[in-house]
Amino acid sequence: MNLFWCKQHKKKPRAVRLPSLFTKVSFNLLIPALLLVSYHSTTLGYVRTTSPDGTPIHWHRSCIFISPDSAGSSDVGADASLEAVAGGTEEWNYAASECNSYIKFIINEPKPNLKRGFTTNGTNKNVIVWLEEHWGDDEIDYERNAIALSTITFVSDPGAEDDGEILDADIEFNGVYQKFSVSPEGEAGKYDIQNTLTHELGHVLGLDHPCHDGEVEPRPVDHEGNPIPDCYPEWSLDDSITEATMYNFAFTGETKKRNLTDDDIAGLCAIYPPGDDPDVCAPVSFRPQGCSCRQISKHGNPSPAAIFFFSILGLLGFLRLFLREHSSNISGGSKE
Ligand SMILES: [Zn+2]
Repeated sequence: MNLFWCKQHKKKPRAVRLPSLFTKVSFNLLIPALLLVSYHSTTLGYVRTTSPDGTPIHWHRSCIFISPDSAGSSDVGADASLEAVAGGTEEWNYAASECNSYIKFIINEPKPNLKRGFTTNGTNKNVIVWLEEHWGDDEIDYERNAIALSTITFVSDPGAEDDGEILDADIEFNGVYQKFSVSPEGEAGKYDIQNTLTHELGHVLGLDHPCHDGEVEPRPVDHEGNPIPDCYPEWSLDDSITEATMYNFAFTGETKKRNLTDDDIAGLCAIYPPGDDPDVCAPVSFRPQGCSCRQISKHGNPSPAAIFFFSILGLLGFLRLFLREHSSNISGGSKE
């Protein structure tokens, strides 16, 4: 029996903030020595971001359209900012082509005043914006020590066909409290845009940080199901972790994250293997009329669905942000 399943949105998503920041020093003091020893020998490949029920998230598309703000960063100007965006997407695209992965970033024409956030009415744009006046959104102020922030919106509906499907991804740069540069050698006191962006694009693809800084509980697991190691002390970590583009931290003048490491590439290739190509290269249009109907092969009534708007605040620097989780109540119904 095929059910024709419609979801209707009843409420505007609400935002919930999870644990706030720890400075490197204070967090370091909180780490029990035993824990450090326990996870020291853990080897790692890559870590996938998962929904609250543990489903790894990924795009159900062959392409990810990226819309950069045409103004770019006021520190370096529009052209240099957009060049950095191109460089970051090309790095991931090249890695994808090397393992015959189908996934590809496509950059849309830069436009001014792009709308951030996720809407349940119509097509969402995956924007890259530089915030220069207010580091935050309508609801909250972001942590000022963040360099950039990625917000990934995906379906969390255990058992459903689209569980874990990424619907939207926005990247925001902190132009209010941080300085940016684009020099290939890096610039003292400034964060390299391409270095930052390449890391954030990894979040957009569905990759998470390779070590545990205490912000996400329970402790994430790597691709083999092993708990990831603590980020502190840094000397306890394998180079494959600290050198990865997806490593949690970055410093001013750093540019090494422009280049993906084997673990970053392994993550990309595993999430989007050639055999899984959905062969659909189009923006995600989610519930254009506020009602999503699809045909699924399923018996019985679907359980009430929930979509969690799970925001990854990808903080680079010596601090890491918090996770923000949005959730909305959605009614599930069926008709034949
Ligand atoms: Zn991050």
